[in-house]
Amino acid sequence: MVVTRFAPSPTGYLHIGGLRTALFSYLWAKKSGGEFVLRIEDTDKARNSQEATDAILKAFEWLGLEHDGEITYQSQRDEIYAKYIKQLLDEGKAYRCYMSKEELTTLRETQMANKERTKYNGKYRDFDGTPPEGVEPVIRIKAPLTGEILVKDGVKGDVSFQAQDILDDFVIARADGAPTYNFVVAIDDHLMGINEVIRGDDHLSNTPKQIVVYDALGWDLPKFYHVPMIHNSNGKKLSKRDGATDVMDYKEMGYTPAALLNFLVRLGWSHGDQEIFSMDEMIELFNPKDINKSASIYNTEKLDWLNAHYIKNTPNDELAELLSAYGLTLTSHDKKEILLDTLKERAKTLKEMSEMVKEILDTPSEYDAKAIKKAFKGEPIPILNAFGAKLTASEAHLPSEYHSLMEEVVAEMEIGFGKIGMPLRVALLGKMGGPGIDVVMAVIGREETMLRIANAISAIS
Ligand code: GLU
Repeated sequence: MVVTRFAPSPTGYLHIGGLRTALFSYLWAKKSGGEFVLRIEDTDKARNSQEATDAILKAFEWLGLEHDGEITYQSQRDEIYAKYIKQLLDEGKAYRCYMSKEELTTLRETQMANKERTKYNGKYRDFDGTPPEGVEPVIRIKAPLTGEILVKDGVKGDVSFQAQDILDDFVIARADGAPTYNFVVAIDDHLMGINEVIRGDDHLSNTPKQIVVYDALGWDLPKFYHVPMIHNSNGKKLSKRDGATDVMDYKEMGYTPAALLNFLVRLGWSHGDQEIFSMDEMIELFNPKDINKSASIYNTEKLDWLNAHYIKNTPNDELAELLSAYGLTLTSHDKKEILLDTLKERAKTLKEMSEMVKEILDTPSEYDAKAIKKAFKGEPIPILNAFGAKLTASEAHLPSEYHSLMEEVVAEMEIGFGKIGMPLRVALLGKMGGPGIDVVMAVIGREETMLRIANAISAIS
C-alpha cells in the first residue's frame, strides 16, 4: 500500500509550494488506494507556533484535502528518537563527540582559510580515552566518508552524491539531547510506514543524510520524488512579491478550492494538453512519474481563467453558499437564479462577483461624474419619466418584460435605444458598465427600480 505524507514545519502559513507537494502526495495515495498522512515537524520550539499549525489545518479544511489517521507531532516523540539514538550508540554506529564550540570554530576557520569544505574531522569517531571535562557531548552518526550515495529519484532519475563532497559524521542529537532534523525525518518516515516521499527539490541535499540514517538502522528506503520549484515569470523562485503565497489569501481573493487545486496540479505535472481536472480526474490520472523535471511557471492569468471556469460551472445554490464568505446572504433571495446566472458568466473571482452583486442590490448613493455627463446629456428626464409611467402600469417581472417596456418607450418617443439605456443604467447602478439593465431591473424589482429612477431625476434636476 502506498503511504505518502505531508510534513510541514509550522513556522508560518501554508504556502502555495507546500500545498502543491501536499496535493501531489494526496493524489498519489488516493489513486493507489493508500494513505496520506500528516506530520507536523514542530521540533524547533523557538520558531514553531500553534497558530501556524492551526493555519495549515484550516487551509486543508478549506480545500477539502483530508489526511488519514491521527496527525503526528514530532514534538511528542522525544522518547522514540532517544531510543534510536541509544540503539545506534550501543551498536557503535554513532558516538559521543566532546569537541568544544571553540575547537569546532577553530577547525572551521582553518578549513575555510585553506579553502576546504567545512566539515567535522572525526576526532571522536574512535575515541576510547577519558572525555574532557565540562563539555556536554553531541551525538554524531558514523557516516560513510568515501564512496557514492545514490538517490534514486522518481522525478530526477539517479542522482549521485560523493560522500567525501557532502558528508561528515553529522550530529544526530545536540548536547541537550534534542535530535536533529534529518535524523527525525528518517525515523518518522520509516515508523509511519511512509514508502513514497514527494517533496520539494530544495530537500534533495538532505536526502543523502537521511539515507545514512536509514542505512545505519537497516531500514529500506522509501521511494523519493523531488519536485522542482515553482518560478515566477522571470524564472526566479516564487516569492511574496509575486502575489499571494499564503494559501488562505487565495480564499480572500475569491478563488474556489476547485480552481486552486486544478491550477496547482498543473504546476509541474501534465496529462497531454488537458487543463481542466476535477478532483476525481486528478486522482485517476495523477502519477508522480509524470512530474516535470524543470521548474514550473506561476501564471496568474491561468488561475483566473480556471477560476472563471469553475464559477461558471458551479450550481447557483452552491455559489450562494460560497458567496456568503464575502458577506452576502443570497441563499434565500427570490431572484438568486437570474442574478447568479448572469454574473457567473462575467466574474473571474468570487470576490469580484460579490462586488458585482452588491453593485446591483445596493441603491446607488452617488453617481459617477463622467457617467452622468455622458448619460444624462440631452433630455433624459422626460424619457425616464415615460419609462417610470410604463413601469407603474405594468406587472413586469422578467428581464424580457422590462426590455419590452424600454422598447415601447423607444418606439413611442422615436428615440434611439441608447437614449433610454444609458440614463437608466446610471440611474440604476450609478455608473456605466455592468450587466444588462433588464436583468438588473428584474432582480431589484419594480419598486426599487422606480425609486432609483426618482433618485436620479432629483439628482440631476
Ligand atoms: N518540514 C519540511 C518543510 O516544511 C519538509 C520535510 C520533508 O518533506 O521531508 O520544508
